[in-house]
Amino acid sequence: MAARHRWNRKDAHNATCERCGTHAQKRPSPYGRRWWTEWRLPDGSFVDNYNGGRTPPCPPASAANSSTIKDAR
Ligand SMILES: [Zn+2]
Repeated sequence: MAARHRWNRKDAHNATCERCGTHAQKRPSPYGRRWWTEWRLPDGSFVDNYNGGRTPPCPPASAANSSTIKDAR
């Protein structure tokens, strides 16, 4: 189960998670009166919910994977 992000708001449209470093930016849709959110993950990749995607988990899967790697042989 994913923990909740701890958003530290910069302004009305920008926030950064204090826990994992994910940056969220709200952006207006060019096609209509709705807003969508783009997340920049700590590993440098981008995720957005323009097509109804969900908020990335905290911490992101990539970070969680690297921290849970057992000594696989
Ligand atoms: Zn987070």
